[in-house]
Amino acid sequence: MALRQIRIQGDAVLEKTCREVKEMTPRIRELIDDMLDTMYDANGVGLAGPQVGVLKRICVIDIGDGPIVLVNPVIVSSDGEQTGDEGCLSLPGKAGQVTRPNHVIVRALNADMEEIEVEGETLLARALCHEIDHLDGHMYTEKVEGSLHDVTYEED
Ligand code: ZN
Repeated sequence: MALRQIRIQGDAVLEKTCREVKEMTPRIRELIDDMLDTMYDANGVGLAGPQVGVLKRICVIDIGDGPIVLVNPVIVSSDGEQTGDEGCLSLPGKAGQVTRPNHVIVRALNADMEEIEVEGETLLARALCHEIDHLDGHMYTEKVEGSLHDVTYEED
C-alpha cells in the first residue's frame, strides 16, 4: 500500500486540465492502486488524478459498493436534479450545498482499458460529476450555493 499526498485547494495542479490516457502502463496501474489506497485511507468516496498531482484523466470512486476505476470518463447523459452537501478531500473539514444531476451515465475505460458504462443515481451521480469536474480543473466550491460550512466528523 502506498499513499500519495493529497493536494489541497490553492495548489495550482487542481486548476489544470488533465490529459487523456492513451495506453495503460505499469506506472499508471501503480498510480490507480495508490489512488484507491489514498482514497480509502482518507475515508473519501472519490479521488481524481490532479488531487495526487497527476494530470491524467483518471478517477476512482467508492460510495460503499466497491471500487470503480474510471479512465478517460465522459458524462454521456444526465437528468434530474439533487441539491445536497458536498465535500472534497482537497478541502478537508468543509462542505457546501451543490446542485447536481440526480442521474448520470458515464462512459469510460477501466484499468484494463476496456470500455465500461457506469450509471449513477443520487450519491453516485454526485460523485461521478464531482470527480470528472476535477479532471477539467474544477472544484465543487465554484458551484456552492451559499457559503461553506465546517464538517464535524463522528468518531468510529
Ligand atoms: Zn474533490
